[in-house]
Amino acid sequence: MSQEYFISATIQCDTALHIGIGSGHDAADSPIRRAADGTIHIPGRAVTGSLRTLATRLAPRLGMMPCDALLTSDEIDDRTETRKVKSESSDGGLPCGCPVCVLFGDVNPVDNVWERENGAVVESKASALWVYDATLLPPDKNANGQNPSGPATYVRDGVGIDRRTRTAAANVKFDYELVPANTQFALRLRLALDEADETAVILLTAALNEWQAGRGQLGGNVARGLGRFRLLNMTCGQTTIQTADDLYHYLLADDQVTQAQPLPGWPNQQLQAARAIRVDRSEEGRERSVLGLYCCVNFKLRFTDLFLANDPVTALLSDFDHAPLVEFMTFAGAGPAIISGSSLRGVMRSRAEKIARTLATAHWHQADNPKHAFDNYVMRCPACDVVNSQDGSPLASCDSRLNIPTTKEAPEEVFCLSCHLFGSQRRGSRLWVQDAPLDDQKLDTSDWQAQDFLAIDRFTGGGLHGAKFDAAPLVKARFKASLTLHDPLPWELGWLALLLRDLADGQVSLGFGSAKGYGRVQATHFNWEIGFITPADLKCKEGVCFPDSVKANAVPSGLYDLATAVSAEGNWLPTDWQTVAQTWVDAFKNKVHSYETHAKLERMQADSFFTEDGRFAKQFGPARAEVNNG
Ligand SMILES: [Zn+2]
Ligand SMILES: [Zn+2]
Repeated sequence: MSQEYFISATIQCDTALHIGIGSGHDAADSPIRRAADGTIHIPGRAVTGSLRTLATRLAPRLGMMPCDALLTSDEIDDRTETRKVKSESSDGGLPCGCPVCVLFGDVNPVDNVWERENGAVVESKASALWVYDATLLPPDKNANGQNPSGPATYVRDGVGIDRRTRTAAANVKFDYELVPANTQFALRLRLALDEADETAVILLTAALNEWQAGRGQLGGNVARGLGRFRLLNMTCGQTTIQTADDLYHYLLADDQVTQAQPLPGWPNQQLQAARAIRVDRSEEGRERSVLGLYCCVNFKLRFTDLFLANDPVTALLSDFDHAPLVEFMTFAGAGPAIISGSSLRGVMRSRAEKIARTLATAHWHQADNPKHAFDNYVMRCPACDVVNSQDGSPLASCDSRLNIPTTKEAPEEVFCLSCHLFGSQRRGSRLWVQDAPLDDQKLDTSDWQAQDFLAIDRFTGGGLHGAKFDAAPLVKARFKASLTLHDPLPWELGWLALLLRDLADGQVSLGFGSAKGYGRVQATHFNWEIGFITPADLKCKEGVCFPDSVKANAVPSGLYDLATAVSAEGNWLPTDWQTVAQTWVDAFKNKVHSYETHAKLERMQADSFFTEDGRFAKQFGPARAEVNNG
């Protein structure tokens, strides 16, 4: 009996979404396309790709067999040997036949056929799921009425900051076009199954529910704060063709969707069925990217005085050379300001690297022989400078020193600790930093303070010709920031904890003009969200990530249980987490002290801090440790 389901929903962008321009490298990971007539849409295959990835990572948590896509070729060979081959007309192995492959088409589309233990025949089938292009909903059709009257897209400017000089790194500047947060698209899916298949329906519903719970992602820029979305208004209709009469009416209909009856209880009934069959992640699960623990830290960033971020587009339109990064521009005035996820991430990375290098320096400086201190440090520097691709220069990036061809995947463990946590050009990151919008503040002219700046000629001390610029810093702005770390390890949490402590202590400044006293920021109002599918997720091979006590207030969220812990006023850590946080920090210190450059990485040639005779580089002045030693 064939069954057909029609699912419709609204895609709501929680963050801005990157648009490909249809040429050059930046189009490759972009989920949005612009048609010749200028309209924008999300191609169905971009949605399908994201949904398939999610279903693949999720299925093993529902006790379903892992897809071949998660296995190594050796593991696939082992699996093939245990299967009862029914017919084999070609090389190329057997079709996978897992529930994901039933929904989306088999990962191994070969003619060969095998038989399950229950006698069911498995042959490669085309996709049962069809996803239509998601079209832009006009602002007046938005359910939440939030779509702004501003332009549908805008251009954002990204700059890489050199770690040593704290200036814009050469050649690391890029523009990208975005649709703003809160934009909505209409999504339609059609699932056509040859025979009733409850497993496939439960898996698809569970995946869509993850999106409904706000955990959707599109495109490759999610770690930098782009491409997160949620589904609203999900509905599902079903047609069942049992008789010739059914078929006749079905084929006669103008729009087959009108033949569908609302599916009873969907999606809650199917979601409950999915939650009831959740299982612990297997030992190999982490390596296979099967879904597991995540933790999300929300906090507020309070600027104690003025905040200045550079955005040339806004600057151009508003006649200011410097202005806060503005999410929407209208010609009448600036809309709400945001700190982009990528700039927040850059600042956090830079601070995190400093923490790691300081710990390593302090540790290796203890070495008896100064020459050994240098060798040790260069061999064991835990954090490269990711934007420095000049091989041989101080802190040259892992990417530039990697002995693995760019065509091959580089595993996480070959990278330095910084690339491991924050990612590199070669490898994405499990740490996502979201765009930080203004915290319920409406900007008015009194929040802006126009100031003149004059660039000073380094030689004469006089004003540099033509180098006068205006600045429009924001006064005492407050932003809402959010970080998510997927599949954390205790040492990664330890590093994050030290970083958050520095932010809470006001040790980090943000935005341009920190030399002029701008951008001093303090993080406050911390609250933590911990998502787990089963309580076993709270631990990992390397130790405890979160105490069992977090289970107490967990509430269901899609397939996950979501626990929250609010930090007390003036504290970044929830009060009863002191003990576990100490174990994270100890794990991080051990990780830094025992870190050694992987054999696949060329050793660093030089460092910006240690010199070859074991002294600290002169331009930095004597290090505090030396001064203290007299
Ligand atoms: Zn499969
Ligand atoms: Zn690195």
